Amino acid sequence: NQQILLASRPQGEATAENFRFVTTDTPALQDGQVLVRHHYLSLDPYMRGRMNDSKSYAASQPLDEVMIGGTVGEVAESRHPDYQPGDKVVGMGGWQEWSVVDAGQPGALRKVDTTHVPLSYYLGAVGMPGVTAWYGLVKIIDPKPGQTVTVSAATGAVGSAFVALAKARGCRVVGIAGGPEKCRYATEELGYDECIDHRQHTDLKSMAAALKAACPDGIDGHFENVGGHILDAVLLRANAFARVALCGMIAGYDGQPLPLQNPALILINRMRVEGFIVSEHMEVWGEALKELGGLVAQGKLRPRESVAEGLAAAPEAFLGMLRGKNFGKQLVKLI
Ligand code: NDP
Repeated sequence: NQQILLASRPQGEATAENFRFVTTDTPALQDGQVLVRHHYLSLDPYMRGRMNDSKSYAASQPLDEVMIGGTVGEVAESRHPDYQPGDKVVGMGGWQEWSVVDAGQPGALRKVDTTHVPLSYYLGAVGMPGVTAWYGLVKIIDPKPGQTVTVSAATGAVGSAFVALAKARGCRVVGIAGGPEKCRYATEELGYDECIDHRQHTDLKSMAAALKAACPDGIDGHFENVGGHILDAVLLRANAFARVALCGMIAGYDGQPLPLQNPALILINRMRVEGFIVSEHMEVWGEALKELGGLVAQGKLRPRESVAEGLAAAPEAFLGMLRGKNFGKQLVKLI
């Protein structure tokens, strides 16, 4: 069983040296356990936070243990009555090819149906990132038809689900993404009304001007994945009573400071700015996954994936994602 462990904690930027590749034997199954062969590993920005040992909403990743991570795969052997070899499952198998799972633990493993939905989508559009987009849009932004909503990291796993959900609610949706290719894909394939290239608008003044042009009626709701000057510019263009779902601030995950230039705008615009962690809202997952699965089945949500080949490629793919090298949901294909 090939595995990747956290070897050391990053000092500033994470590097490939923070990870260690090892090969071990898989232990024999005990009663109630299931052996899962992973087909795909999900790489997600939250993993960067887990590499630190500073205080956060979740416990940090222990050193010398398999890196945490969502996986989809197939049951290879089972000593649990609810699982049979061949069942397709999603779980938290981590950065390794196989995992032994106590299948009776609540939330440890979930069987999935791949009749209408590709298996890998359970790590993206119909998985944690999709529910994240749903929660921020539906429970925090709660837009009315015709309102303007904006989202940063617009073509990523969360952003691509966000636009499908917001278009289904009749919104004008403006994305912010890195580079002309991502922006073209955003408008031509994902359904954004407009997309702003943050690489062309690297300071507050320029980003605020681009948002003014793309959002002539102002911004009623914003879904923040990045932070920094993008959030500052949104506050400048926000309408009264605008809502901001604070989902991620990836521009600061390697330790870069992200000061807010003018927090008084939150007061002046009477805004609601709310952070959230999707795993603390399990009560919405059923409803959210139902809508997301429906959009996929109807062909309205078919987002792109960046697929790295083989476990050994995971560290570079992960570090690349933190710098915007991924184009769509970042996965590692294991078989
Ligand atoms: P993505 O697929 O969107 O990949 C990350 C993207 O972030 C990159 O492709 C890049 O897009 C963008 N990015 C990285 N650095 C910068 C930067 N300095 N400035 C601007 N953009 C940058 O990842 P996900 O969809 O999985 O996650 C998106 C966000 O959602 C993250 O912030 C993540 O932490 C957060 N999240 C939060 C959850 C919660 O419960 N609160 C749950 C899941 C995700 P581009 O090239 O377009 O700039």
